[in-house]
Amino acid sequence: MKDSTDIKKLVIIGSGPAGLTAAIYAARGSLSPLVIAGRSAGGQLMLTTDVDDFPGFSEGIQGPQLMMQMRSQAERFNTRFINEDVVEVDFSTRPFVIQTESEKVIAQSVIIATGASAMWLGIPSEEKFIGHGVSACAVCDGLFFQGKEVLVIGGGDTAMREAQHLSKICSKVYIVHRRNEFRAQPALLELVKSKPNIEFIIDSVIEEFLGENVLTSVRLKNIKNGTTSVMPIAGVFIAIGHKPNTEFLKSQLELDDKGYIKVFDETKTSIDGIFWAGDVADRIYKQAVTAAAAGCKAALDVEDYLENLKIKQSK
Ligand SMILES: Cc1cc2nc3c(=O)[nH]c(=O)nc-3n(C[C@H](O)[C@H](O)[C@H](O)COP(=O)(O)OP(=O)(O)OC[C@H]3O[C@@H](n4cnc5c(N)ncnc54)[C@H](O)[C@@H]3O)c2cc1C
Repeated sequence: MKDSTDIKKLVIIGSGPAGLTAAIYAARGSLSPLVIAGRSAGGQLMLTTDVDDFPGFSEGIQGPQLMMQMRSQAERFNTRFINEDVVEVDFSTRPFVIQTESEKVIAQSVIIATGASAMWLGIPSEEKFIGHGVSACAVCDGLFFQGKEVLVIGGGDTAMREAQHLSKICSKVYIVHRRNEFRAQPALLELVKSKPNIEFIIDSVIEEFLGENVLTSVRLKNIKNGTTSVMPIAGVFIAIGHKPNTEFLKSQLELDDKGYIKVFDETKTSIDGIFWAGDVADRIYKQAVTAAAAGCKAALDVEDYLENLKIKQSK
């Protein structure tokens, strides 16, 4: 176990669009940030293929390529990286203590940018088709299915919002739900039910995703009567929620009922000197560009925080 004795001005936890944008701004602000990139370095865009909505790429860009470019940009200004997960933190002492799998790191300030992982069905055939017909984001990928028939999986608000968005782009949207009751707010459910091109398939689950290299159909199972059927479909949107990656923060920082970091005054958290950026505190937008914007704001606020800390400490 390595013990780093020097105190870092800023440690950024996470290397998705939020963490890397924070790193670019902090490094250019002479804060020499250390990024603890996590085992899934690059974040959620590493899971996808075409990203068509990140500004600056008129022809679109592949998710992993975008993330490699962001990382190179941060490295160009001397950001250092550790490709490990943080396992625990101690924010009750100052400077703050961050424990990775093999190193203890000490920091004057921290930006937490660990994201919120989209929940997948977890069935064996699913992974092969993520980015090739299976998605977790209608705003990001809906346009790839313009004029086609798609399925949305889920029964909560997220599923209804995804279906509503897709109904404006796709010829037909089926909502597949394992029960015949819905957790979605009644008003939202009614709105979705009023759309002529949205149809519900209740008491049903996807048993298998089918196709050669891209998704072409799914095997559906009615869990009430056990019957199965193969349904041709161009795209499937999994809308069963997100899990914020905040396990290691429990009892250290205030989290909301879903585990998202509680926001205090823009980029601040419940502890002075600990900042948030990106999906880890964003229950609504969850886009690469909003995460990047939050990373920028957090880095600029850290600059101010450290300046004020210096003045306080010199008194
Ligand atoms: C399949 C898919 C396709 C998408 N397509 C688009 C798109 O086309 N356009 C768009 O705008 N958005 C898209 N999104 C959404 C977008 O990926 C997210 O909004 C964005 O990545 C959020 O950025 P983030 O930096 O907050 O978190 P993430 O990208 O989730 O990054 C989190 C980072 O934290 C790290 N981490 C987690 N836990 C720990 C820990 N304990 N210690 C250290 N590090 C940790 C991870 O390794 C990772 O580096 C898509 C999402 C998915 C799942």
